[in-house]
Amino acid sequence: MPTDLSIDLPLIDHHCHGVSPAELDFAAFQALFSESYRPAPPGTTEFQKPLGLAIRRFCAPMLDLEPSCPAETYVERRLALGAAEVNRRFLRACGLDSLLIDTGHRSSSILAVDAMAEAAARPAHEIVRIESVAEEVAKSGVSAAAFPEAFADRLAERAASAVGLKTIVAYRCTFKIDQTAPARDAVVTAADAWFKASQGTGKYRLSDPTIVRHGLWVGGELCRQRKFPMQVHVGFGDPDVYMHACDPSHFTDFIAAMEKWEVPITLLHNYPFQREAAWLSEVFQNVYYDVGVILNYAAPMSADILGEALEMGKFSKLLYSSDAFGLSELYYLGALLFRRGLKKCLDRWLAEDFCSLADAEELVRLVATENARRIYPMQ
Ligand SMILES: [Zn+2]
Repeated sequence: MPTDLSIDLPLIDHHCHGVSPAELDFAAFQALFSESYRPAPPGTTEFQKPLGLAIRRFCAPMLDLEPSCPAETYVERRLALGAAEVNRRFLRACGLDSLLIDTGHRSSSILAVDAMAEAAARPAHEIVRIESVAEEVAKSGVSAAAFPEAFADRLAERAASAVGLKTIVAYRCTFKIDQTAPARDAVVTAADAWFKASQGTGKYRLSDPTIVRHGLWVGGELCRQRKFPMQVHVGFGDPDVYMHACDPSHFTDFIAAMEKWEVPITLLHNYPFQREAAWLSEVFQNVYYDVGVILNYAAPMSADILGEALEMGKFSKLLYSSDAFGLSELYYLGALLFRRGLKKCLDRWLAEDFCSLADAEELVRLVATENARRIYPMQ
């Protein structure tokens, strides 16, 4: 039964990416709400899944269309309005407090931090991706012998005005790795092999576990000095992930080491490991978590997933994120589905007399902004 609980507070979107400024045709639009590298099979579309329903149902009215209009009509209207107007409409209707933007993924095809702040008319801060900086240093032509320090210097420089770091260790070598700091000699040997294998290809994709571990520990040290969090990708995402080995409970050695350094670890996405993430928030002082991106993909079922994240996890540790990339629709839906899901869960708690309205309002304040503001050094 709905209650008087208001969930309209501005949200800090603590993990998101830039949106595309391009005019997107039907194929290009669909590609940006798919996690696959390949298009939908012939005869089918990406609209034939929960997220497709949500775009047609909730985003169409924002473009002056009837709810649940045909997919082709939606994309035509989007093109007629133009990407800049569409992005402004959705980003400004999210009710955001501020945005924390990961700039390490396909940054040349999406708006940069300043342009996002302008489009959203809200403050935006940068999160620097550790592995992208390592790849940038490798590409620069530095010698393997100089790599360990050159990387540390570059990471500190890139993060000078950032509010946190991010690692995609889960993508590159899963969590089932040795999580200790590698010896300097081992890093140089691994860098040498990496550079030799990449020479002439123009591609320096980092997947060597020794270098990735070096990145984690150099990044951890920087987080300790700067007193900002390390975001850790968990679970659901691109196809280059071995899902079974990306359960965050495999990563407890590194999490425990960062706990000693008082470095907050923010576990991103987490699906289908939202229960594991919630448990980690209970047992480790430094663990925070969200259920970003999956709320969009699960749309009509998103409140159930948020409910699982709230089963026993600390609501002093839960954060909001859309994990939107490319489409401003994903920002809008992320905020809408999060608010709907949270209200549904808390209305139930209220109806079953587990909390007072004041308790529920405090929980909303914590997850909307206060938890993020406690750990990210935003001005
Ligand atoms: Zn992301």
